[in-house]
Amino acid sequence: MQISSIPATAADWHRLADGYSYETRMFIDGALCDAAEGGRYESVNPATGRVIAAMSAGTQVDVDRAVAAARRAFRAGVWSRLAPRGRMDVLLRFADLIAAHAADFALLDSVEMGKTVSGMLGFDIPSAVANIRFAAEAIDKVEGAVTATARSALHYTLRQPLGVVGLIVPWNYPMLMASWKLGPALAMGNSVVLKPAQQSGMSAVLLARLFAEAGGPAGVFNVVNGSGARAGQALARHMDVDKIGFTGSVPVGGLMMRYAGESNLKHVTTECGGKSPQVILADCDLDRAVDNAVHGIYSNQGEVCAAGSRIMVERAIHEEFLQRFIDRTAALYRPGDPLDPACGMGPLVDDRQHRTVCGYIARGLEEGARLAMGGGAPEGLEEGFYVAPTLFTEAHNDMTIAQEEIFGPVGVVMPIDDMEQGLELANSSIFGLGASVWTGDLARAHRFARDVESGMVWVNTFFDQDPTAPWGGVKQSGNGRDKCREALNQYSQIKSVWVHLGD
Ligand code: NAD
Repeated sequence: MQISSIPATAADWHRLADGYSYETRMFIDGALCDAAEGGRYESVNPATGRVIAAMSAGTQVDVDRAVAAARRAFRAGVWSRLAPRGRMDVLLRFADLIAAHAADFALLDSVEMGKTVSGMLGFDIPSAVANIRFAAEAIDKVEGAVTATARSALHYTLRQPLGVVGLIVPWNYPMLMASWKLGPALAMGNSVVLKPAQQSGMSAVLLARLFAEAGGPAGVFNVVNGSGARAGQALARHMDVDKIGFTGSVPVGGLMMRYAGESNLKHVTTECGGKSPQVILADCDLDRAVDNAVHGIYSNQGEVCAAGSRIMVERAIHEEFLQRFIDRTAALYRPGDPLDPACGMGPLVDDRQHRTVCGYIARGLEEGARLAMGGGAPEGLEEGFYVAPTLFTEAHNDMTIAQEEIFGPVGVVMPIDDMEQGLELANSSIFGLGASVWTGDLARAHRFARDVESGMVWVNTFFDQDPTAPWGGVKQSGNGRDKCREALNQYSQIKSVWVHLGD
């Protein structure tokens, strides 16, 4: 562990990948450990289909141990009662260590999940560092309040940590999604048990080790790897876990709420899927709109919760948009080796996701949409789990490909008459995560932003984000807000204190 400098070429990255010592253990109570029952699962490189390592598969026993360690640390106050600036110092050092291990994180998330190293270095890692820093710097700005009660009483509120928090995260941005939750959860003084997706468990363990190296006390940050059905469920049903911060699919988000209801009524926040509309109107800056629409659906192989997968284009520019979109995709997104720094698009995460995405492509054809681009494996890349950038046209909003989250590089274009129709179609969805409108008419843009049923709206832009800006959805896209000051509230609770003053 710790690659000293960022490799320059694909060959350098491959040499590193071949000689790297992959950690297969979990991290509980300040130490690396194997699963108590000895179970293992294979971590597979999706670019080649080959096994990288046999990872420890956690079960109920490991979750019990991790939760007990987290509770002990919480009660001991080694972190929860540390002076706010003490926590801040540790978290700032943690952020620095993440930045210093950029090459390790890029390698791990790339070989496990198929992420491009350029995407990791250009986006995931700097964003994760910024998110941890934001949460750290917010620690001593958290305040309670003295409220307006009668003269005979003093009433004030204390904002306090929840206790033991379970964090269950997906594979599409492994270390970044973890950072969105770790930052506020740790900043507020909680102890955490992180359960990464089975497809991408290695970077989670590196995060925990770096937190310890930064001075984080044992038991405060634990990682249990393993399947959702076993390790994840054990955590979400645990009677001594106070909250689950979840990011993942809608069905599993629903299970989190059910498990909470069937166990100890723990807090649950969910960040789930999306089918984000991009409404592109004739008076927009078409070059910008096309490039953003292309990035909106093909970046990270389309495995993005807020992917702009429903592209609605005003009829007057529909044909021109399509031609430019296809040309720009060819220039910007050629699938290849994710360890090549020049590569902008890797494989899908695993065989299962590959079959799911191919199934949706078949369904689109059956339902009568026209395949304008892609639709199968890119030439020469039949070995890994690759799907070429794919575009359907002549689609309508009630087709399966326009309603369900595909979570792959498959865009659906629908012609619209005007903004009102775009808005109506945008809102005809069970999801409400992101949405964008492209227009030169300011009033129209603000009307869209006001009326679209979506947690986030982009006007003449797409995917902009910042640690200061809340991230989250409405409807079945979830009820949580990651990032920003609001996230700190979601990992803490208010206590009410009354003091009798007399007359
Ligand atoms: P998933 O729901 O299958 O899994 C998410 C996590 O839940 C994983 O750690 C998994 O192991 C765990 N899990 C699965 N079954 C479980 C169970 N029965 N009990 C407890 N835990 C269980 O999702 P995924 O395939 O890993 O990720 C893709 C999904 O995540 C997409 O729907 C995507 O839109 C969503 N996502 C949302 C956001 C957001 O901010 N809204 C961000 C990234 C990804």
